[in-house]
Amino acid sequence: MATLHHPHYILNFSSTNHCSPFPSHSSSSLTNRSISYKYKLPATGNRMTRSSSSDQAFDVIVVGAGIIGLTVARQFLMDSDLSVAIVDKGVPCSGATGAGQGYLWMTHKTPGTATWDLSMRSHQLWTMMAEDLQQQGLDPMVELGWKKTGSLLVGRTFAESDTLKGRVKQLSEAGLKAEYLCSRDLSKREPDLLVDKDTAAAFLPDDCQLDAHRTVTYLEKANRNFASKGRYAEFYDDPVKCFIRSDGNGVEAVQTSKNTLYSKKAVIVAAGCWTGSLMQDLFRNWGMEFQVPVRPRKVCLYTT
Ligand SMILES: Cc1cc2nc3c(=O)[nH]c(=O)nc-3n(C[C@H](O)[C@H](O)[C@H](O)COP(=O)(O)OP(=O)(O)OC[C@H]3O[C@@H](n4cnc5c(N)ncnc54)[C@H](O)[C@@H]3O)c2cc1C
Repeated sequence: MATLHHPHYILNFSSTNHCSPFPSHSSSSLTNRSISYKYKLPATGNRMTRSSSSDQAFDVIVVGAGIIGLTVARQFLMDSDLSVAIVDKGVPCSGATGAGQGYLWMTHKTPGTATWDLSMRSHQLWTMMAEDLQQQGLDPMVELGWKKTGSLLVGRTFAESDTLKGRVKQLSEAGLKAEYLCSRDLSKREPDLLVDKDTAAAFLPDDCQLDAHRTVTYLEKANRNFASKGRYAEFYDDPVKCFIRSDGNGVEAVQTSKNTLYSKKAVIVAAGCWTGSLMQDLFRNWGMEFQVPVRPRKVCLYTT
């Protein structure tokens, strides 16, 4: 079956059945971002101790500076007075975040499944963030690459189109704006699309897209505002090697290749697809098996 992607928002139905529904994005632009950041902490501070340049303490240590790690750090910085360190083996966007297409789509999500509530909440939070920026007089398009593109999931065969019709009904019943476009309506909306009598589409006008690189830059900038208050530090190009155990059998510190970062309250591992293998490595010297059911998955996506 031929696969056709509109550069902005059309997706072929069949590609959602086997793999991530997101068209691939070149990651070559990442190579010029291999900068090593490290904010210097003040020698004295409210909540921190600092015994040497490679031996520091924070309330929360976040492992992984992808979109998840950065937003977790942001949340602690904004909603508490805790100090936060974020550690990455590379730089933000060197993982899945940098490859991501940034689609915030509900079109391929199914009401009632485990990911439905999370996806709805995620969609809502990103929309709120875009609205907040607007209220502050900033342009969400500039800051986040935010666009309300809508999404179009295209069925090529009668069976696919029929499934899409059912999906539109299901999504509408769950409260989303969703429209079924028969081949004639689809041709009108997308005149360049090759449409035959069996082609149809599910159209969700409220689906959005953001630019992961811009968004990460925005999040980093906002997080760094807390560095001058001694509440935030970044350790990039510094892979985490192991956890150091406390007397009470908790995690006392995170050992990276260059630093020992003591944690006063929590260590959060947000290492994306590396989380499963990393957790095993981190706990190996404790004689513990730690199984996190996260594994990397390789997919092949074609865009035209
Ligand atoms: C091609 C592609 C397209 C996608 N398109 C979309 C889309 O359109 N919409 C959507 O919602 N999702 C999309 N996704 C999924 C989305 O990009 C991911 O779900 C999301 O970026 C995961 O973010 P993360 O922070 O968990 O992981 P990552 O961005 O992978 O971050 C994990 C970080 O952990 C770091 N790390 C790993 N090991 C260590 C270690 N030992 N020490 C320190 N740091 C470590 C890595 O360097 C990395 O920076 C896409 C994914 C891909 C691959």
